[in-house]
Amino acid sequence: MNKQGYQFWFFVGSQDLYGEGCLRHVAEHARVMVEAINASQDLPYPLLYKPVLITGDMIRRMFQEAGEDPSCAGIITWMHTFSPAKSWIAGLKANTKPLLHLHTQYNEAIPYDQIDMDFMNENQSAHGGREYGHMVTRMGLFRKVIAGHWKNPQVRQRLAAWMRTAVGIVESSRLKVMRVADNMRNVAVTEGDKVEAQLKFGWQVDAWPVTELAAAVADVSEADTRQLVEEYYNSYDILLDGRDQEDFRRHVAVQAQIELGFERFLQEKDYHAIVTHFDDLGTLKQLPGLAIQRLMMKGYGFGAEGDWKTAAMVRLMKQMTRDIKGARGTSMLEDYTYHLVPGEEGILQAHMLEICPSLADDKPAIRCQPLSMGNREDPARLVFTSKTGPGVAVSLIDLGTRFRLIIAEVDCRQVPRPMPKLPVATVFWTPKPDFTTGVEAWILAGGAHHTAFSYDLTVEQMVDWGEHMGIEALVIDRDTRLTRFKQEILLGQAVYR
Ligand code: MN
Repeated sequence: MNKQGYQFWFFVGSQDLYGEGCLRHVAEHARVMVEAINASQDLPYPLLYKPVLITGDMIRRMFQEAGEDPSCAGIITWMHTFSPAKSWIAGLKANTKPLLHLHTQYNEAIPYDQIDMDFMNENQSAHGGREYGHMVTRMGLFRKVIAGHWKNPQVRQRLAAWMRTAVGIVESSRLKVMRVADNMRNVAVTEGDKVEAQLKFGWQVDAWPVTELAAAVADVSEADTRQLVEEYYNSYDILLDGRDQEDFRRHVAVQAQIELGFERFLQEKDYHAIVTHFDDLGTLKQLPGLAIQRLMMKGYGFGAEGDWKTAAMVRLMKQMTRDIKGARGTSMLEDYTYHLVPGEEGILQAHMLEICPSLADDKPAIRCQPLSMGNREDPARLVFTSKTGPGVAVSLIDLGTRFRLIIAEVDCRQVPRPMPKLPVATVFWTPKPDFTTGVEAWILAGGAHHTAFSYDLTVEQMVDWGEHMGIEALVIDRDTRLTRFKQEILLGQAVYR
């Protein structure tokens, strides 16, 4: 879904004091850099080379053009020479796109034998980049700064990672979440100010009656349903757990029909994320399990029990990780059960049903088991264990007057033995820096029990997303110490109101 081909505009700053020859070199260097970087395929999206910017009018016009182009996902600025920063004010004021300051230089080494004043004037990023950076800071604008030579693999890696964050920012501004039911009664963390979410993040969060969704599901033909069931049986293992084969297939078909009905409804109404609630299902025969897992796999965001904030974050994180080669997976998760044996501590992550199979470490299996909640027939769901390795779990909470994004670095591990009686997908992780600190910090920060999780994103990317949105981004990672973390919470209370 969403085949939007994004591009990033490359703005090179200079001025007209150095003469035509110098400006020709500046333009030529920028062109060489853009072509080489694009050819390397180190970045997930192409750079678009733009004319060298030397006057305030030109700079303002270029930012405005970028703002009007929906395929522009961000602007990368680089000061090749000195570029007086007052000429950037109008442009920066007009800017609506994610902004990065690539603080680099065309040449890697100082050419000791040849360097003269002409060379210095032509290659003075150290000088021009500071003038420009000063202005962006003075204007209080959020931008990412990446310093280093443009051929350096680490610089390219960080640039690639930021591009994904920028896509998360741009996608946020057009995100639509479909609420099929209200939040689960009495639950606090799934609530939130939807008006403020639209102001801050751009999210449109709409309620739809479950009756309309159920009607869309009922409209799905038997033939279409049968075809999708075939696809399921070809793609996944089947664990009958002693059930009758035909009865099992009938249960699976209910989910296939829900998947098709929901997907058609979401497409028709142009929504990118969905929430459900086990207690408000209308005429749906089962809580959507397998159906939601499949929709998440296709790129839709999901939050359970009406959790629209998590649904939106899952969607954005899926867009940020789109088309990563060897992507390891992104899903909603829920903190469920602890393992507290000293030296082995961790948290078992799961949900009633709805974990995205992108996390699976092997071929998922379909099982059909009773649900202890709600009053519907036993839902079919995909069961699997998940990959091991590092990941990032985020929780967006509403503190009443503002949002806070909590970003935790976690280490996903294998449980020592299988859990044959557990009919849901699981992940097992230990938070950083260690179980006790990580869990205590999460609780003190007010983190929810639902998270949006990805193996394919970093703390830095999520912090950049939060900072761009102008909200507090609290990090729990390998460097977290509780005494300092408490001070960070206090500081955040003073800064963000
Ligand atoms: Mn839940």
